[in-house]
Amino acid sequence: MLEQAGVDNKTTPSSSTPTFRIDVPLQSLLQKTSTGRSTLAPLAEPATLPDPVYPQIRRTKELKRSGFIYHTNNGVRAFRRWMVPYIQSRIYSDEFRPLLSYLFTEWKCNLDCHYCWSYNNNVKGMSEDVARRSIDWLHSVGCRVIAIMGGEPLLRPKFIHKIVYYGTKRGFFVYLPTNGRLMKPEVTDWLGDAGVAAINFAVDCVDEKPGLPKILNRIRPNFDYLVKVQRKYGYMVVFNINICRNNMDDVRELTEIAHDNGISTDYHINETPMLEQDHFKHYQDNVTYLRPEDWPKVDELLDHLIEKNRQGYIMVNSKAHLERMKLFMRGVVEPWNCRAGHNSLIIRTDGTLAPCFPMYSATVDWGTIENHKFELNQLNEMKKECVKHCLSTCQYVLGHYYNNQTVLRWIVKQALHGMSGNTTAVAQA
Ligand code: SF4
Ligand code: SF4
Repeated sequence: MLEQAGVDNKTTPSSSTPTFRIDVPLQSLLQKTSTGRSTLAPLAEPATLPDPVYPQIRRTKELKRSGFIYHTNNGVRAFRRWMVPYIQSRIYSDEFRPLLSYLFTEWKCNLDCHYCWSYNNNVKGMSEDVARRSIDWLHSVGCRVIAIMGGEPLLRPKFIHKIVYYGTKRGFFVYLPTNGRLMKPEVTDWLGDAGVAAINFAVDCVDEKPGLPKILNRIRPNFDYLVKVQRKYGYMVVFNINICRNNMDDVRELTEIAHDNGISTDYHINETPMLEQDHFKHYQDNVTYLRPEDWPKVDELLDHLIEKNRQGYIMVNSKAHLERMKLFMRGVVEPWNCRAGHNSLIIRTDGTLAPCFPMYSATVDWGTIENHKFELNQLNEMKKECVKHCLSTCQYVLGHYYNNQTVLRWIVKQALHGMSGNTTAVAQA
């Protein structure tokens, strides 16, 4: 018998494990639409990505040595790719102006984290045609931040190299999440040289734990190299950590390892899928799901992280977000400003669109790249329900920064700190 983060609306016949979190009418609306999604119109000649020049950068000794240049480079890059589109989105507030896009190049994965429904090894990866057209279309609508997503994007490292290279050349801040297993030093060099701006290393435990294969010690050489050459290439690194019932000591240890290596952390509360997922096989007897008896321990862990945040540990989550996680795991979410579908979107492997990651499997027709169909009324209506069951870190941070006062405070802070590492939290959202 399991109860966990979110609200259970439908249960499997043999267990109380919820199969989705939103209410039944919204689930039906999002999953059972009769019309189905649009498909991307093919071009007469499929688009291709240019072959990356490698190595393309000759770095000076000064650049390798200078922490100041490294931080300035990151700060200026984050400012240009976030602030300029942000200001434009406020000026053209009636228009669809995404600040942040998620490009799902892959829906396959080489691991099987027991809480994860975000992969299906039967789904074909994104084609070069869709990737190229996505980047060009995002550019045309004013977006300058791409987070490559999966599954595991590095199942095709050469393809990712091409995307990072082309995206960076077009002026994007390109962010790559990975479970790190395939991020060999050679791949780090390709992506660093191509200009990747941030790398999100997803790890849940230091040593092996049931149902949690994202193990730091299995990828330690890759991680050590990534950190070693960070200043050379100027990217940011973040640990992405999911708080589960069986990894709470690891969360503390990973936090310290991140701090010792000068990188930031991003925390999530483990949760069940927002929508029902036919392919997900771990609904029952899932050892990673939080149960009510775990809540005091999670509260204690979150207090610990809030204290570390106060002490200056670099984190993507704000103190307020960490605090809200306590209520979230109990099924209570206070209203927050979700910008999904207005200022952010996801592009699926086939070029179709959705407002956010939890809605990946919705069959609603939100259009395709080059022809979006996001409508304010539909999104607002939908969010009345789903926002009560969601505390997506990325969307929450985006909503937090989609606020004039917060942004003004951020600008002042950057000015005072000389555009230093404080850009991390915005840039990695
Ligand atoms: S590595 Fe990522 S995509 Fe793969 S199973 Fe784990 S959480 Fe899912
Ligand atoms: S609250 Fe926002 S991010 Fe969460 S499911 Fe709804 S639209 Fe998506």
